Amino acid sequence: MNANLQLMKFGGTSVGNAECIRRAAEIIMRAAREVPVVAVVSAMGGVTNQLIEAAQASAAGDLDAAGKLAEKLRQQHQEAIEILIDDGDKRAQLSAELKEIIEEVTSLCRGTALLRELTPRALDAISSAGERLSARLLASALRELGLKAVAVEATELIVTDNRSGRAEPMMAETRERATARLAPLLAEGSVPVVTGFIGATVDGKLTTLGRGGSDYSATILGAALDATEIIIWTDVDGVLTADPRLVPEARTLQEISYNEAAELAYFGAKVLHPKTLRPVSEAGIPVWIRNSFLPEQTGTKITETGHPTRRGVKAITAMTNVTLITVGGRGIVGVPGVAAKTFTAAANAEANVLLISQSSSGNDICFIIDSGDAARTVAELRAAFAFDLAHKEVEHVNVNADIAIVAVVGERMRGMPGIAGRIFNALGRRGINIIAIAQGSSECNVSLVVEAALMREVVQALHGEFGLERRASRFESVEDGSALASV
Ligand code: ASP
Ligand code: MG
Repeated sequence: MNANLQLMKFGGTSVGNAECIRRAAEIIMRAAREVPVVAVVSAMGGVTNQLIEAAQASAAGDLDAAGKLAEKLRQQHQEAIEILIDDGDKRAQLSAELKEIIEEVTSLCRGTALLRELTPRALDAISSAGERLSARLLASALRELGLKAVAVEATELIVTDNRSGRAEPMMAETRERATARLAPLLAEGSVPVVTGFIGATVDGKLTTLGRGGSDYSATILGAALDATEIIIWTDVDGVLTADPRLVPEARTLQEISYNEAAELAYFGAKVLHPKTLRPVSEAGIPVWIRNSFLPEQTGTKITETGHPTRRGVKAITAMTNVTLITVGGRGIVGVPGVAAKTFTAAANAEANVLLISQSSSGNDICFIIDSGDAARTVAELRAAFAFDLAHKEVEHVNVNADIAIVAVVGERMRGMPGIAGRIFNALGRRGINIIAIAQGSSECNVSLVVEAALMREVVQALHGEFGLERRASRFESVEDGSALASV
């Protein structure tokens, strides 16, 4: 739509208080001098949690929850207004606008408490209030800096299906609406500040994209508006080679591919919402992850090819709070349908399956799910296999919550022999037992299941084995490996 359009998203910590909001506004101002900018904003840090907690307390019949929520929201936002806005009239006007939103959300909580029922639609309306407040604050902060800025509700831009709490965008409709609404603003030199996390159905019912969904809002809009690049401003330096709490020498990666970023988002590195890259990878729009607290740092750039490196491995991630479930017994060898039954049970329990492994002898199927889903899943499995368990066709449904998944991620591991060997060797030398292993055919990720208590040691060992604390050399051409640069 707009040549050079930059889409900038600010996460909850990046707009966490007045000082952060001002910093965000300055980042936008510097960019807006050069190129057209659309901003997408999360709720102030912690606000969405407060909203959801109040909604749930109300549903449980707590009539005071609404009032307490209103007071907290008013305080937090008013404090920011006092610091950010000088002019008394403007301040009063903004306070009144925010007050209206707070009143709306507290009446919804009161209604919920009276009915003792929280409908998905009410939860969407309540949980999305934080973004409606923060977008207005940031737009006002931009106007304080002398920019033209307008808060825009994403319900006017992002068209979704009607799945409350986890809506999916309809891109053609979104493109049409977003362009129609934002092009005139951009043409007059304004910065639209759009509420993240929120969308609406074709007929205008508010929906939300799922927790952490503002990242997704940013790429949906970036793709719909043909942005040149998308910058996700957050509170970390970018995507790291490992969690620095596990590996102190972890390093920020300069460039990674969409696939690598998706693997990392999925397996523990919570920098991005897992769906974030879907809208942009086809169009090849680069996405930056940058630290709004240290804007002079360049961060991590996510692109199609992601700056391949010779070593193949880019990062090591780990995931805890997961449970390994094993369905096994001699009776399942060569019997078709056991896997189908197993995963139907997991699906019935609405468990998100993170990893699957089965040995070729087939007498054991194991898979990993979030620990929160474990009890439900086991109950479903025991019911599904009740007959087989009684007749010893299936001998056990075992549960192990003391595990962690460690994933070795890198797109260029594909077709590169020796990586699995090095992983096994590095761990074998330390006497570390691998409980299960899985590699998808994309070969972008080798996942190991290990005892939870060993997770730190495993991540450190693999980080060191692949030398990730040092910058890698790059090969431009896979064939001759000639042109070298550093990553
Ligand atoms: N405010 C929403 C949440 O906390 C969306 C986001 O921050 O991305 O889940
Ligand atoms: Mg987030």
